[in-house]
Amino acid sequence: MVEPIILLFSGGLDSTVLLYDLLHQKDCVPTCLLFDYGQRHIKELTCARAACAELNLECRTVSLQSIFSTAQTFIMDGKSGSYIVPNRNMVFLSIAAAFAASREIKTVLYACNLDDAEGFPDCRPAFVSSLNASLKEAQVDVEICIPYISKTKKEIVAIGRDLRVNFDDTWSCYSGGLEPCGTCLACKKRQEALA
Ligand SMILES: [Zn+2]
Repeated sequence: MVEPIILLFSGGLDSTVLLYDLLHQKDCVPTCLLFDYGQRHIKELTCARAACAELNLECRTVSLQSIFSTAQTFIMDGKSGSYIVPNRNMVFLSIAAAFAASREIKTVLYACNLDDAEGFPDCRPAFVSSLNASLKEAQVDVEICIPYISKTKKEIVAIGRDLRVNFDDTWSCYSGGLEPCGTCLACKKRQEALA
């Protein structure tokens, strides 16, 4: 049986590989959920939409600009910086779970991984488990699944290469330019993974 699922899809490296991985397994039909939250790097949305069009998948964009565009905070991590939005992933996952429940879909997939978990608490298993416990408490029959949580970005890239993902069609840079800046945290992690 082919199962419908909701994928949190950013157009970045991790969620793009997960999307191809799901399609390769052929036992689910993903609907991609995109978030326009006033991010500087709007190019990731362009990449995400292009991938959905190419793969002929349903793609929904949730607009959260009015809430989040002024909430972005620049943090320094060693020599590199990144933009963070407090509680962003909690909001994304909660909306995804509501959307899934409205369609009687039981699974939301989230491509967080070992590298993300290192720096971001809301990319860790404990966070996702507590969110699943909250959904259960609220009697929402949806589970958030994190199939890549024990994988590094390097391992995700290897899966993507096997699946012939064109990484030039994915976007990671936070800086908002038309070309990757090469110095932000996202660019650095991407370069390491692709090396
Ligand atoms: Zn960058």
